[in-house]
Order: sequence, then C-alpha cells, then structure tokens
Amino acid sequence: MKPIRKVDLRKVPKSEDDVWAGWVFRMILLTLKYNVHKISWKTHLKDSRTKKGLEGTVDMAGNIELDLRNRNNPEAVSILIHEIAHRAMRFMPEEMILLFEAIAWETLTDAQKNYLRRFLPRKIPKKTKKPRK
Ligand SMILES: [Zn+2]
Repeated sequence: MKPIRKVDLRKVPKSEDDVWAGWVFRMILLTLKYNVHKISWKTHLKDSRTKKGLEGTVDMAGNIELDLRNRNNPEAVSILIHEIAHRAMRFMPEEMILLFEAIAWETLTDAQKNYLRRFLPRKIPKKTKKPRK
C-alpha cells in the first residue's frame, strides 16, 4: 500500500525518557504512515449489522471513519488512536484495543497528542438531504 501522508519520524515530538512511551508513539506513527489509507469524518456513523451508533471504524483497506459529532471533542484523538490500534493489531479483541487506547492516552505527551490531532481531517462531509419517504 502506498502511504498517503507524510510522517517524518525525525520531526515528531519526543517521548519522555522512557522506552515504552517511545514504543507506543512510534507504533501509532508507523501504522499511520504505512498502514492507514484514509481518515474521514462521517455523519451518523453506525454499525452496518447492529445499527448501533459508533465513534469510529476501520475497514480491511485501512480506511478510518470517525463520527462527526466528535470533531470538536478533545478526545477525538483518542478515538483515532483506538482505530489505528485495530489496524495495527487486527487479531486483538475489543477489550485489548480499549486497554491499549487507555495506556496510549496516559503515556503520550500533550505535544504528541497535538501532533496526532493534525491527522484528523479538515474536510467535513456535506449535509445530505433527508431521504423522502
Ligand atoms: Zn474498537
């Protein structure tokens, strides 16, 4: 897969002097760089089977979709990390991914979280007309 966005690993915010913190951030960046195809906002994101509302999804092609409601939520980055973790660790069950997300959120510095915030898309979906009944 061709990486679609530039992540210059030499120019990213440093972790505090901790091997594990560095590993967590680097794992997120490498997945973004090489294994995520596209990130976009979606209105009313929901599970196609259960119809339950979702905050984020990632498909087999590496397309991440995030629910537009969280666009101004500071924790949108945490949701992005969650979806990146699914992409990086495809065989891990949901509870393991939730745990990774929590660990990452505690481990990353504010500068690193802000760096990841840049990958949240600027473009928002156009309003769609309600289907007529
Ligand atoms: Zn999940």
